[in-house]
Amino acid sequence: MNILLLGAPGAGKGTQAVRLAERYGIPHISTGDIFRYNIKEKTPIGVIAKSYIDKGQLVPDEVTVQIVKERLEKEDCKSGYLLDGFPRTVAQAEALEKFSKVEAVVDIDVPLDKLLKRITGRRVCGSCGESYHIDHLDGKTSCSKCGEELIQRADDNEQTVASRLDVYVKQTSPLTEYYAEKGILKNVNGMGSVDEVFDRIISVLG
Ligand code: AMP
Repeated sequence: MNILLLGAPGAGKGTQAVRLAERYGIPHISTGDIFRYNIKEKTPIGVIAKSYIDKGQLVPDEVTVQIVKERLEKEDCKSGYLLDGFPRTVAQAEALEKFSKVEAVVDIDVPLDKLLKRITGRRVCGSCGESYHIDHLDGKTSCSKCGEELIQRADDNEQTVASRLDVYVKQTSPLTEYYAEKGILKNVNGMGSVDEVFDRIISVLG
């Protein structure tokens, strides 16, 4: 199955994507993770991406679309994939349609006023990418899955988050209408525990 996860920054896309990819046995493709890897490795794409990500802006469509196109051509995507964080603009969605057919789009809905606290309190594992919130860490600083150190993403500070949320409202949220019109949009309430949200997603995917 070819699945897309939509939702604002902090809605829980990454957390659910890891579990869904495992459940369905399909690769989890996160454009944000691909950019962070390129930034860490200081590749030319990483240099371009960093200049936008640091400001909470979107990396240009032509760069992002090309990365996804190449990734979806890989053998492991032949029996399905889970895209997390792509598309983020209608232009990206239109480009995607030209090289792949999306079967289900899950929109994880969390009220905008809850997102700032979720993101600024987020800590992620620098190694496996597992996500946590400081409210549930009890002062722990290492990942309970792999033991590596937890870090705060460079773009999870209050100022950058404000810009990311603004970008989401203006550029990404129109995608819900776009996919609703195609009849493949599934809305899921993103409030509650990770397991509760996961169960809701599984039930809408059928
Ligand atoms: P994420 O990990 O999905 O929150 O993405 C982190 C940042 O990477 C975003 O704030 C954007 O700057 C950039 N990014 C990720 N995915 C895309 C995309 N599909 N289009 C443009 N920029 C993206």
